[in-house]
Amino acid sequence: MHRASEKPAIQDIERLIAQDPGRRGIGALVQPGHLEGAARALLAVGRVLIAGGFYVLEAGAGETDGPPGVKALGQALTKLGANPLYVTDALNRPLFERLGLAPLHEHGPGLLARLAPDALVAIERVGRAADGRYYNMRGRDISAVTAPLDEMFLAAAAAGLPTVGIGDGGNEIGMGRVAELVRQTVAEGARIACVVPTEHLIVAGVSNWGAWGLVGALGVLAGRDLLPSVVEVRADVAALLAAGAVDGVTRRPEPTVDGLPLEASLAVLEAIRAVVTGSLGAREAQPSAAGDAAC
Ligand code: MG
Ligand code: MG
Repeated sequence: MHRASEKPAIQDIERLIAQDPGRRGIGALVQPGHLEGAARALLAVGRVLIAGGFYVLEAGAGETDGPPGVKALGQALTKLGANPLYVTDALNRPLFERLGLAPLHEHGPGLLARLAPDALVAIERVGRAADGRYYNMRGRDISAVTAPLDEMFLAAAAAGLPTVGIGDGGNEIGMGRVAELVRQTVAEGARIACVVPTEHLIVAGVSNWGAWGLVGALGVLAGRDLLPSVVEVRADVAALLAAGAVDGVTRRPEPTVDGLPLEASLAVLEAIRAVVTGSLGAREAQPSAAGDAAC
């Protein structure tokens, strides 16, 4: 059922997550309506494969952007009755485990058929560029430390499965949908632009924000707040640091995400929550949209 209050609420969330504090030029990459499309695609699925984990070559550790979003989405989908499966590579596995996620860290032909997911989501997960190599945002080749998890997204698209990509820099799985724009607008874009598309692309200032935005949109559609609490997110980032994670921008082990104080991310989280709770009030006050009355 589509309620009249859902679409503007999700558009508000889409705007919130598209803030670009890192001035990466992501505004041009935003695909209006894709957040709602992604949420509707995931609202009633069974098994969802969620891929994440970004290894920071210069620091020899995984980063703080991504895994908190993976966890938040997995928890929200679990509350909705779905069965999330987490996939990362061996280098990021300790971070996922510290968050209480039990990831698979395998890949390759046949995995998709064996896992048989109903949908796939990539959150801050690097995907191949046009030359088949993997690059970080600084344009450095990280192929040697990157498992080709993007293969599953190519196979899923070929099989007609719904796919969602969440990214903040142009080099992540999903950005293949806007690869030409990445080349034009993002620093190092000509080199790093990922060519692996997803059906739905969520572009955010920080990828964790994109994941929370998706959880917020699911909450708007489901009529409940599915977001993690501020306390949970603080604990998750602390746990990641304890497991050796670093800020992907500063490359230091500090309680920041993409060079921003954690408070900045928590403010976005709470702003998304305010939209969700506001929509719940509107949901009670408004009848269904006329077009849905006959459903
Ligand atoms: Mg990124
Ligand atoms: Mg990031």
